[in-house]
Amino acid sequence: MTAPPESGDMPPEEFERASREVFEWMGEYLADPSTHAVLSEVEPGEVLAALPPEPPESGEEFSQILRDFRDLVLPGITHWNHPGFFAYFSISGSVPGVLAEALVATLNVNAMLWRTSPAATELEERVSDWTRQLLGLPPEFRGHIQDTASTSTLVSLATAREATGLGVRDAGLSGRDVPALRLYCSEEAHSSVEKAAITIGIGRSSVNRIATDSNFRMRPSRLIDAIEADLAQGARPFCIVATVGTTSTTSVDPIAEVAAIARQYDLWLHIDAAYGGAAAAIPEMRHLMAGWEQADSIVVNPHKWLFVPIDCSLLLLRDPAATRSAFSLVPEYLETPESDRVTNLMDYGPALGRRFRALKLWMTLRYFGTSGIAERLRKHIALARDLADSVEAEESWVLAAPVPFSTVCLRYDPGHLTGEQLDRANEQILERVNASGEVFLSHTRLRERYTLRVAIGNIRTEKRHVQRAWELLREAAEVV
Ligand SMILES: *Cc1c(COP(=O)(O)O)cnc(C)c1O
Repeated sequence: MTAPPESGDMPPEEFERASREVFEWMGEYLADPSTHAVLSEVEPGEVLAALPPEPPESGEEFSQILRDFRDLVLPGITHWNHPGFFAYFSISGSVPGVLAEALVATLNVNAMLWRTSPAATELEERVSDWTRQLLGLPPEFRGHIQDTASTSTLVSLATAREATGLGVRDAGLSGRDVPALRLYCSEEAHSSVEKAAITIGIGRSSVNRIATDSNFRMRPSRLIDAIEADLAQGARPFCIVATVGTTSTTSVDPIAEVAAIARQYDLWLHIDAAYGGAAAAIPEMRHLMAGWEQADSIVVNPHKWLFVPIDCSLLLLRDPAATRSAFSLVPEYLETPESDRVTNLMDYGPALGRRFRALKLWMTLRYFGTSGIAERLRKHIALARDLADSVEAEESWVLAAPVPFSTVCLRYDPGHLTGEQLDRANEQILERVNASGEVFLSHTRLRERYTLRVAIGNIRTEKRHVQRAWELLREAAEVV
């Protein structure tokens, strides 16, 4: 161990050595993450057991720490940057975004106030607007970045709750006489909507899950029925969450019809387009989300399908002042003389401190350009269509849902198995395929039936990776 330098931090000469070693590893890794098994093969507790229970008393050599990163940590990593990662929604930490993250960590900015880094706030304003344009949304939307779609939706729903005029922010919901607030989303909506309901104090029972049609889209007539029934009971409908790209099947609610209903009943409309919204970067895909420009708020995650490293969720607001009045709370120690002339990003959500996330979005958009991004998304969509065609052509397999974007839901169904047997067979297929280390798939349940999902979205995924997944699926089905 070298003696502590004046500054207390790692000395510059050592940084030069260590950073070369780190970046060399990063370069090799990013050149081909598929040299690793995509799904970590460790057993529960294995990583924990390999780590010393107590922290080191004296400092250690960085090269030793890095060696332990390789030997102890890496085996417990599931490789989200692997081209065979098709589980959940596959994502990409593309190289421009990775480099941006290194710069962000170097600056270590907390972008809570404009003055705590004017460029962090103003770059966020600019690049949020670039993303709005990328998605073809009108200029009345103003965006800012949250960590996740879950937080973006929470912020939107808290704003919607304040827009009721019930003054919940100050008076709370307990111990006084307020009507039961009611929120509507489809039965396919993401769990983050219910989690937001838990957090904003209206409770899960206030979430009215609307039935979907045969293509997993919210039924507008059922939505109207539910609102009318709630009104008749004296409840207070306040918000609809419609989804562009639901998590199980990527179905798209009929946005224009839902928007008309929101207008008719004067309800807040939030669009959860965490994954599917990215497809609006492709002009010929925009018909799918037509009507979303009528929403009060929209969430799209650049960390999902726009190649930006996690975490980066864009929340677009029609009326940012409404969100500001729902959340702004400025103690004396955070007062600044310029506050009426600038945006202080701490005013737009529950957190004070915030990472400088705009830099990675800026560098990623600049490096690929809007047409480069559209090209990459088109490729993923084409790969998904090809796979869907192959599934449809295969007698003992069925496509379990339409494929509007780049996610394919499928099921092995040779025709002679009962429901339970089918579930078990598909579970076994999934286990077998995931044990290959070559691809990683996840599952869902559609109309009670166990369903496999292949979500294509990693920047490194090529036709051969999707073909290999399909081959592994069919091989696994032969032995169940
Ligand atoms: C992934 C996803 C979310 C949650 O995203 P986080 O950023 O992980 O919170 C919400 N809604 C939909 C439709 C999603 O696909």
